[in-house]
Amino acid sequence: MTLDENENHEIPKTHPRYESLKYRHKIIEGLKKLVVTEAGLIAHGRGECFDYIIGEKTTQPAKKAIRAAVAALLIAEKPVISVNGNIAALIPEELTALAKILKVPLEINLFYRKEGRIEAIKNVLQKAGATDIRGINEEKMVELQGLESNRRKVDLIAKADLVMVPLEDGDRTEALKKLKKKVIAIDLNPISRTALWADITVVDNVVRTIPKMIEIAKELKKLNRIQLNKIIDNFNNKNNIQNMLDLIIEYIEKQKSEAFNILKG
Ligand code: ATP
Repeated sequence: MTLDENENHEIPKTHPRYESLKYRHKIIEGLKKLVVTEAGLIAHGRGECFDYIIGEKTTQPAKKAIRAAVAALLIAEKPVISVNGNIAALIPEELTALAKILKVPLEINLFYRKEGRIEAIKNVLQKAGATDIRGINEEKMVELQGLESNRRKVDLIAKADLVMVPLEDGDRTEALKKLKKKVIAIDLNPISRTALWADITVVDNVVRTIPKMIEIAKELKKLNRIQLNKIIDNFNNKNNIQNMLDLIIEYIEKQKSEAFNILKG
């Protein structure tokens, strides 16, 4: 299917892959507006593949990690949510709503800094209602140590104690960890370097995670610091990733027997 063909296609809501196609189109629209890069399309495809093998739903381990992530964002002193092109194209309204409810700034941080791209992402976020958008003023930027890519140029992230990185590259997570920052990752691949380096890893699709985080934030905002700390202390990222991998194995085993039944005819 070419992009032009896509433009003329209304996806019927009854289509079995409606949700997946809807977000594919958002990514393609993002590409046309300079928000997403060609490499972002490939990253999205890699994500879809992992989403397939977790059953395209928010699993129990992901829900546990989401709770811990929201608690950590609520008690952090200088938290920041890092924004890349894909998340801005997929769910700008929800991302903005989450930032507002948690009172956490959004910082645009890109691997590919094509001319006009930061502006395009800023416009998408502003249209979604964001007011506190960082990473747009070159004069305020400093360089993060231990990172060669464009992502080294940061604003609030430099002094942050906690950074949430939805769908990211491993190099940056590693650099953030070396600078002793806490990292929350949302990544569909449980064995990516990002997922393994992070302190709290949510193995889920950002399109489901962010709305879920908004729901949990409304609930956890009523708790005090001791209660929030307890949620974080009871969370074990290593065990949680192991549970996630076990679930994937179980899911594939189940799919295998179902596929064999179909093949038998
Ligand atoms: P790493 O360097 O951490 O090992 P990578 O090189 O695979 O990871 P990229 O290709 O830069 O990372 O980023 C894409 C990552 O984002 C992949 O791990 C992919 O699974 C994940 N991803 C893509 N789309 C989504 C999504 N909608 N929600 C959550 N994660 C996603």
